[in-house]
Amino acid sequence: MKNRQIAVIGAGLMGHGIALCMARAGHHVTITDPVPEARASVAARIADSLQLLGQGPADIAKTLKRIEICETVGDAVHRAEVVIEAAPEKMALKQAIFAEVEAHAPDTSILASNTSVMPITQIMGGLRLRNRALGTHWWNPPHIVPLVEVIRTEWTDDAAIDATMALLDEAGKTPVRVERDVPGFIGNRLQHALWREAISLVERGICDAAAVDTVVKASFGRRLAVLGPLENADMVGTDLTLDIHDNVLADIEDSHTPSPYLRALVAEGKLGFKSGQGFHAWTDAEKTALRARVARHLMALQDMLGPEPRLNKGGANPATTH
Ligand code: NAD
Repeated sequence: MKNRQIAVIGAGLMGHGIALCMARAGHHVTITDPVPEARASVAARIADSLQLLGQGPADIAKTLKRIEICETVGDAVHRAEVVIEAAPEKMALKQAIFAEVEAHAPDTSILASNTSVMPITQIMGGLRLRNRALGTHWWNPPHIVPLVEVIRTEWTDDAAIDATMALLDEAGKTPVRVERDVPGFIGNRLQHALWREAISLVERGICDAAAVDTVVKASFGRRLAVLGPLENADMVGTDLTLDIHDNVLADIEDSHTPSPYLRALVAEGKLGFKSGQGFHAWTDAEKTALRARVARHLMALQDMLGPEPRLNKGGANPATTH
């Protein structure tokens, strides 16, 4: 599957990485952004990211040749087979973008939003042809992290989901189906279940923030890249997992609202990296060092593991359990 026409709306952090992944996979990519500086800088940003991925000048030039920078949404989408929107996380803006996309794109195009947490159903609800609308939730940096969650709405055709899964798979990504449009999809639900308990441990005085982060990084965090939680449950035994849940779940945080501790941090202007103080204190040098450490780690993991192979071992899924 090469030579498809892919349009990317928004040339920021995510859009530039999504565009480069699709161009690297052999597709023709158009990318648009209303901000002239974003359009002017996107080729250089893509070249930098490709260099980070180890591409030489000839390969970078080849990838860039497949990317066309457009001034308007109309120019970007008029021949698009797939449109991926990566504009700011604002509902009204995304709804307006898709109305414009639908006015200019072929009726057969698949329309995808890269929203982090907003319902795809709400973003796409006003479309004329909602059966081709879905979510593709890429993770930052999109050209290094393999996962893309492919989110179905109640209207999405199987054909649109299947074609998107195949497109991403063949582009070297690791797509995963999300069968219902729930807040946070899969990854952010799991991630924020962990963060809720992490904050609660500090709030209850059980340990400090450094202890929480050390425990995760020095124990199960090390396994997580190669051992998912349900594989882990199978490894130790579902019976042991049941015994542990019998003992521990009653004491685990289950609040349905953000913690007062987190609200207080925000109210006091302790915004993390942005203000130099959050759960931890941060100097500029520490921020730079941690960002670099994360990037090196992700690159090394990608070199070592490549894209995650699809797990298809007859596991439990929503259609087969009940
Ligand atoms: P960003 O701010 O880096 O980029 C957004 C780009 O959209 C900017 O270049 C901006 O000029 C452009 N833009 C503004 N108005 C626009 C319009 N009307 N039409 C098209 N483009 C417009 O943001 P980002 O981090 O790339 O996030 C983009 C989307 O991806 C958001 O929905 C975000 O929630 C989601 N997302 C972000 C991450 C992340 O870690 N940054 C991860 C997954 C998903």
